[in-house]
This record gives sequence, structure tokens and C-alpha cells, in this order.
Amino acid sequence: MSIQTPKGTRDILPSEIHLWHFVESKVQEIFEVFGYHEIRTPIFEHTELFVRGVGDTTDIVEKEMYTFADKGGRSLSLRPEGTASIVRACIQNRLLDTLPVLKLYYTGQMFRYERPQAGRYREFWQAGVEAFGSANPLLDAEVIDLAYELLADLGLKQLSVQINSLGDDACRPAYTRKLLEYIERHLDDLCGKCVGRYERNPLRVLDCKEAECRTIMVDAPKSLDHLCEDCQQHFEQVQHFLNDLEVDYAVNPYVVRGLDYYTRTAFAVVASGLGAQDEVLGGGRYDKLVESLGGKPTPGVGFAFGLDRLILALEAQGVDLLEPHPCDVYIAAIGTEAEKVALKLSHTLRQQRIKTDMEFAGRSLRAQMKTANKIHARYTILLGDNELARNTVVLRNMQSGDQSEISQMELMETLLEKLNCCSSP
Ligand code: ATP
Ligand code: MG
Repeated sequence: MSIQTPKGTRDILPSEIHLWHFVESKVQEIFEVFGYHEIRTPIFEHTELFVRGVGDTTDIVEKEMYTFADKGGRSLSLRPEGTASIVRACIQNRLLDTLPVLKLYYTGQMFRYERPQAGRYREFWQAGVEAFGSANPLLDAEVIDLAYELLADLGLKQLSVQINSLGDDACRPAYTRKLLEYIERHLDDLCGKCVGRYERNPLRVLDCKEAECRTIMVDAPKSLDHLCEDCQQHFEQVQHFLNDLEVDYAVNPYVVRGLDYYTRTAFAVVASGLGAQDEVLGGGRYDKLVESLGGKPTPGVGFAFGLDRLILALEAQGVDLLEPHPCDVYIAAIGTEAEKVALKLSHTLRQQRIKTDMEFAGRSLRAQMKTANKIHARYTILLGDNELARNTVVLRNMQSGDQSEISQMELMETLLEKLNCCSSP
């Protein structure tokens, strides 16, 4: 059998690439409007970075990483997420001192060894932002506003922004103890996963998707009821600013990001139409992360979202994304002489950035017209012996079927006018 893509990976084909281009250009546009600068980091890093950065009690590090030894015996891992690499890059390149608030964004493939299903792949794409240097709740609100604005601008409907606060060093330990006590009392009824990880990562039990666990956790203590005064105030201010910005959000005590370095604000954006994998975007504040990776204490807040899942959501919601015309002009040439003229003509048209294609196989006119239709050419230029003899071409509008013979001298001007007056989406 011929070789296929590895499990959990797939090709993004030319027929769907316009969706990706649309999303990628929107991401770049909106992130830059909010003052973020792009950063690109390696696809693989020292395994240690993710063990320390993501946390060794997380599903990602425990089960999902693509870890391998290179020929020099180093343990490397394909990046499972973006934040740890960006923090590493900031420390290594001393970026954190360059601005009072450093705003960075990224887009790229991530790799996690997961059970593939709809909206869950082993190679998938994420885009995200990280803002370093301020603990001000204004920045939390701005980042959440950015997340909402981006998804709304992409055309996603029925979005729900859910926020929570996870407390900090002052209030989290006492809360975690209470949560642990509660979970211990209900251990017999929790799913295997939760039983396996509750001691090391009890917050994550709040986030479990199993119906049984959800029912049990309804009465569990919530971090929001155990915040210290500072965290309480911070959370109130985040909400106050979100109200000012008219971001439609809901407080949801089950939104957790089960990593130790997350502090205070945690948030998620959920979209309808995605079934079980309905979380499109997740983020939060991580005031301990830079320090834990060897930098000087620097607060941070950010989010990441899955492009694959976002595109699925756009499709599921029937968001109409027109495919741009891949071809403005197709030159159908009959005969060797006509082919030579077609080659020169396409060169000239392309210099004017007119998307041009032509025949290379010497087929019949009928076959060439079929190709012109198939590639959705807006116009076809017909070139045969008669036209060559008269220094003309026949220009045919493929949508209306109208065609007329015009001189080769007038062709460029006529085309530019026609293409500009009814430019394609
Ligand atoms: P989940 O609970 O669905 O596993 P997560 O908490 O692991 O999500 P994050 O690490 O917060 O997800 O990643 C942020 C976003 O990246 C998710 O909201 C989702 O859109 C996307 N994402 C995560 N894992 C995958 C995957 N395996 N395939 C496709 N998209 C993914
Ligand atoms: Mg996951």
C-alpha cells in the first residue's frame, strides 16, 4: 500500500487553504492592531523546558509529548504548546527589559500524542499572545477583549467568554487543601483519570468532562469563594473593565488551567457547533512562569487557540468564506505559434499581477475550455491562427459567456479595467 500520513496528522489541501489564509491574515491583523509583535521559536526544544514550563503533572508532559533522543544523545521534544518556548526566548534574548509591557504573538504547529478525534489531532496549529511585565487587571481585560474581538471578527457566532480566578500564592494553598479534602471524600465515585491525578493536580478535576465527575464537583469548594483580598480585588477589576469594554462574559468557576504557574485570571472561549471539543481558546495569567524558568520575576498573561478547531467551528456554523478566484485569465492557445504568443502574453499579464495560466499540453479548444472552467478562470483569451493573422484575441467572460474580438494592443487595458471594476472576493 502507498504511504499515508501518520495517525493524527493530515494534509491541508489546496481546496481548503483559503480558509487557513483567511484565518492567518486575520490573526496577524488583529494581533498587530493590539500592539503585538510576532516571534518564531524552534519546533523542538530541550525536553526539560516543557517539563519545567508546562509542568510534570500535566497530561501534556505525562502522556502527550513527542520526546526523542537526537544523535548526540540529548532529550528533545516537539513543542506541545507555545508559552514555554516564548518565555525561554524572552529570557535567552533579554527581551523582557526592552519594554515596560512586552507583547508577543505566535502561530505554528504543536504536537501532542493524543487519541485523534474530531477537533483533536497529533499535529495541530495554535496561535496565541503573551503579554509580559504587568500585573494590572487592565491588561487581563485587554487580552480577553483581544480574544473576543479576534474570534468575533473571524465571523464566529454564539461565542461565550468564561472567566474565573485561581488565586495566588497567598490564597491558593489553603484552597487547594480544601479541594483535596472534598475530592478525597468522593474518590470512589470519580473517573479513573481524576483518581490518578487528583493529588498532584486537584484543580484539573474541576475541569473533567465526565458526567459523573461533573455532578460530584458541583458541590466542591470553588477558588472564587477562597480568594484573598488582593486576588478578589483583581478579579473584580477585571470584570469591571470587561463591562466597560462591553465584552459579554460569564463567571465560570470550572474554568481552570491546571498548571502551577497560573495565577488569578483564567479564561476560555467556547463556540457552539463543535460537540465535545467546544473550547476554541484558553488563556490566563501566569505570574510565576518566568521565574520558574530562570528569569527574574515577571508577571504575564496570554492565551492560545487552536486554528484547526476554529476552522471546524466556522464550517459548522456555516460562516460563508468565499474562495477567491484562483485565476483571472486562462489563455487557450491552438497551434505552436499561438502557444509561443500565449507564453509571452502570460508573462506580460503576470507583470501586471493578473493571475494568468495557459495551456501546455496542446489539447483541443474544447478540452482547454473545460480546464478554464475547472480552475474558475474569470476570463479566457482564445488564440488561434485567425487571431494571430489579425493581431487580435478573443476575450471571453466565463460567467456571462459574452465574448468579443479585440486587438492585442487593447488587451491589457481592457482586462485591467474589467478585472478592477468587478474584482473578485
Ligand atoms: P483540551 O481540554 O481540549 O485537551 P487543552 O486544555 O489541552 O484542551 P490548551 O493546551 O489550552 O488545550 O490549548 C489551547 C487550544 O488549542 C485549545 O482550546 C484547542 O483549541 C487547541 N488544541 C489543544 N489540543 C489540541 C489538539 N490535540 N488538536 C487540535 N487542537 C487542539
Ligand atoms: Mg488537552
